[in-house]
Amino acid sequence: MGKTILVAGAGHGGIAAAAELAKKGFDVTVIEKKQRSELGYDWTDIFDPNSLNVAGIPHPAQDKFEYKQNMTFFSPSRSVGLTQDVPKNDLEIKMERRDIYDHLINHAEKCGVKFIYGREALKPLILGNRVVGLYTSDGDMYADLVIDAAGAHSAVRSNMPEESLVENEVGSFEQFYVYRAFYNREGDFTPEHPFQVFLLYGGETQIVWLASEGEYTDVLIGRFEPFGQDEIDEVLSSIRETNPNLGTKVLRGGSHVIIPVRQPLSVMVYNGYAAIGDSAFMTVPLIGSGIANSLRAARMLVNTILSDDSGCYNAKTLWPYQQSYFKALGSGYAAMAVLKLFLLTLEPSELNFIFDKGILTAKEFTIGAGTVSLRSMLSMSLGDMIERAKVLCTDKILLTKIIKLGSRIAAAAAITAMLPKTYNEALLKKWASTYTSFYKKLEDSER
Ligand SMILES: Cc1cc2nc3c(=O)[nH]c(=O)nc-3n(C[C@H](O)[C@H](O)[C@H](O)COP(=O)(O)OP(=O)(O)OC[C@H]3O[C@@H](n4cnc5c(N)ncnc54)[C@H](O)[C@@H]3O)c2cc1C
Repeated sequence: MGKTILVAGAGHGGIAAAAELAKKGFDVTVIEKKQRSELGYDWTDIFDPNSLNVAGIPHPAQDKFEYKQNMTFFSPSRSVGLTQDVPKNDLEIKMERRDIYDHLINHAEKCGVKFIYGREALKPLILGNRVVGLYTSDGDMYADLVIDAAGAHSAVRSNMPEESLVENEVGSFEQFYVYRAFYNREGDFTPEHPFQVFLLYGGETQIVWLASEGEYTDVLIGRFEPFGQDEIDEVLSSIRETNPNLGTKVLRGGSHVIIPVRQPLSVMVYNGYAAIGDSAFMTVPLIGSGIANSLRAARMLVNTILSDDSGCYNAKTLWPYQQSYFKALGSGYAAMAVLKLFLLTLEPSELNFIFDKGILTAKEFTIGAGTVSLRSMLSMSLGDMIERAKVLCTDKILLTKIIKLGSRIAAAAAITAMLPKTYNEALLKKWASTYTSFYKKLEDSER
């Protein structure tokens, strides 16, 4: 029998890593607090299909997905709508969340992964300076390595000891409170743009997306603080003024959820422990997409585990996993988290100015499967940059904010570039403190 791996939570990256490890002879068990039939949400998700190849997962059947439509982004005044034009080869796919789960779990089971449903991981089991298993709702479970795939509020990560350097808590601007529901459509009205995203909707710090597809209108409202039915009703009645087809019956969804939108976790590994997916904050901070990143991270984690000939799976031997994640994706997302915090400081009038004057164009909103950094979003010619800078100079306050943003992005890039090459506890402690306090200070200054 191979080494034992315990995956806490049936998160996407955890399942993908479990499948590959089981294929290689590891004894892998996933424990999931929900029942199998409760997994996934009652809605569709968009992600890069290439991430499946990377993780070693076969492609889903053709009838299980479709390609994502271009989105149109609106300024708060809605006077300008910028429509993406994502090239065909960079298109993401849209799939029912439940079908994604079926696909991943069926594959993992075929590879030999065992799933235990209805069992909750309560906290890590620590012996000396090592995670040796999990306290669960149905007794203790031991393993050579615990993979934490239990989402943004993982009870495992939240209870990691201080000496592990793994952050336990999530800050206030680090998660988005989201309401999502599919409403019936009424009448013949068809909006000019089928997939609309409204920034700073109604002048509030919130986004609203509206996708008209078939018999549904898919509505998502996202804010940085919890909200209730009154706020939802207010947004819905305002949407109906311009989208009269939005009905009143909730056909699917209708739930409140949380999406992490922050920089990646500063320390993802410890002796006998590795975090993946939302528990390691692997979503794109600007949009909260995390499926593709979790699947890509699964490949990095598997490669790292397989390279550990000693079979120790300690912080040192697991370190290349975190290193490769930061190198390929994490540093880019850390810079995007700075941009997210900057967007919070913008007045609606400033965002209107940015749209109206062409400082941002449809190109910058053309986020496709390959958009993994600000550089890939904001690449423009020097001439273009100069033209836009000239326009920006006419609003001194906004200009000052953008100059500050530039220096903060540069600082974020410099800090992530200083991630220690090898696991050295003292060095890492210093680095993690610099990284976390950088974002903490930014958050505090935006309050
Ligand atoms: C409304 C909404 C829309 C989204 N849209 C997209 C999208 O279009 N594209 C995209 O890429 N991403 C999207 N995301 C984000 C995406 O869901 C996550 O980034 C992605 O699923 C990776 O998270 P995860 O699988 O690691 O964790 P999760 O999806 O949170 O899964 C964690 C699993 O662990 C289980 N669990 C939790 N705690 C315990 C415990 N203590 N013991 C045992 N089990 C436990 C949970 O029940 C759950 O099954 C969206 C999220 C939301 C909420």
